[in-house]
Amino acid sequence: MAHTLPALPFAPSALEPHITAHTLSFHHGKHHNGYVNKLNAAVAGTDLEGQTVEQLITNPDAKAVFNNAAQHFNHSFYWKSLSPNGGGRPSEAVAAKLEAAFGSVEGFKEAFTKAAGTHFGSGWGWLVKDAAGNLSVTSTHDAGCPLTDGLTPVLVVDVWEHAYYLDYQNRRPDYLKGFWELVNWDFVAENLG
Ligand code: MN
Repeated sequence: MAHTLPALPFAPSALEPHITAHTLSFHHGKHHNGYVNKLNAAVAGTDLEGQTVEQLITNPDAKAVFNNAAQHFNHSFYWKSLSPNGGGRPSEAVAAKLEAAFGSVEGFKEAFTKAAGTHFGSGWGWLVKDAAGNLSVTSTHDAGCPLTDGLTPVLVVDVWEHAYYLDYQNRRPDYLKGFWELVNWDFVAENLG
């Protein structure tokens, strides 16, 4: 079965003013769609056809399709990390886990913002969970995905310029401020388990 572009889980204008429909029309409709189409073209007729995107990302024999597979996974995860009903404070259960790992919810937000804000070039800022359940903040370059390190993604922000340049030009810190107004704490809760 071919990989498919997931519908955005919100109306294209629902994240404004922090992320505009104009940005999403390119980011979802062109960039993410392009990764899906290239992935499908690359696996068609090969023994990688039929593997899930998670299988492809961690398959040492699928290095040639890694970038498009991981970009498909990362973007699908990013859309779910955003919500027009997001922002504010997480639930007490989520807050307790963040406090245990980072001292406070604010401490987590600072660490995540620093990892994403100081990441050099294209990439992604992540909250991840290891096999023992320990939380940490990290960033990955280009299509890099924590699944390759056996880590479970919990939250992601896209810091490729295409994620914010139309709305913020070079001002990544302002984009990240907007991200916190949209952060989908319910999705975080789901991934923390
Ligand atoms: Mn992107």
